[in-house]
Amino acid sequence: MIDNRLPFIDLHRHLDGNVRLETILELGQQHHLPLPAWDVEGLRPHVQVTEPQPGVMAFIAKFKWMTAVLVDYTACQRVAYENVLDVRDEGLDYAELRFSPLFMAETHALSPAGVVEAVVDGVEAGVREARVPVNLIGILSRTYGPQRASDELEAILAYRERFVGLDLAGDETNYPGGLFVEHIRRAREAGLHITIHAGESDGAQSVWQAAKELHAERIGHAVHACEGPSVIEYLVENKIGIEANLTSNVQTSTVTNYASHPMKAFLEKGLLATLNTDDPGVSGITLKYEYEVAAPLAGLSQEQIHQAQRNALEVAFLSPSEKSALLERKHAS
Ligand SMILES: [Zn+2]
Repeated sequence: MIDNRLPFIDLHRHLDGNVRLETILELGQQHHLPLPAWDVEGLRPHVQVTEPQPGVMAFIAKFKWMTAVLVDYTACQRVAYENVLDVRDEGLDYAELRFSPLFMAETHALSPAGVVEAVVDGVEAGVREARVPVNLIGILSRTYGPQRASDELEAILAYRERFVGLDLAGDETNYPGGLFVEHIRRAREAGLHITIHAGESDGAQSVWQAAKELHAERIGHAVHACEGPSVIEYLVENKIGIEANLTSNVQTSTVTNYASHPMKAFLEKGLLATLNTDDPGVSGITLKYEYEVAAPLAGLSQEQIHQAQRNALEVAFLSPSEKSALLERKHAS
């Protein structure tokens, strides 16, 4: 079970992978979109993953209706706002929400900068109402190639003060991290923390690249890191955090089942590994589910589950005083 004396934190959570089914229906109706169903249960199988997909890109195809309803900036703002309310409703004490402006802008040819502004506004409105601390991570989507990633970076840097970090996500196999060294260097120079999706559909060398060339402070997934023992050593020595996403990895067929997930091995080797949701709306999960159902299925002991909770506080993109404040708030409650 979750240790209630420790903050309950989600560090790897895509807000564009967490659009409420009810919101898809409402926006679909409002804008006369050709939705495949007009009630929540009918829509669910079109939006949520109900069985493992053949790979990460097939999994991403499930986002179709989530992005199809992002018809304008008001819709983007609403989705961001509702994501913060979801953070509160799930009982989280802190979350880092991430999104790719280009991915959200693509279907209806919105401007990435306009999307960033709308998301920032929506998150701020959500935080005012829900009173839960939330920070934003901007994503550069590999899938659009390095040229368009530059535009995406510009859109994020135009609102630099509203972000704590930058991430690289998308098609890891066809767009290796080496293509994005300059982008990440610029983000680091702007003072953003760096987390990189790596070792999900590509191997241990991708994790190496993220850690050494992109100077990632955290790695998203890192499932294949165990294939290179020296990579693990490097991650431990440099206190690089791991954002594990158990259910997501089963659904994308990155691992065969929960029992074969390397999370337990990560913790045994002393990695600062954490439990997260990835795309709660697509996966049909909550962070509580990951801690209480997925983690035991992955073989984690009670103590290891608590360790994952402590690790999340340690590797969060927060200042030491912000971390202490989160802890104190827990102790006071
Ligand atoms: Zn992710």
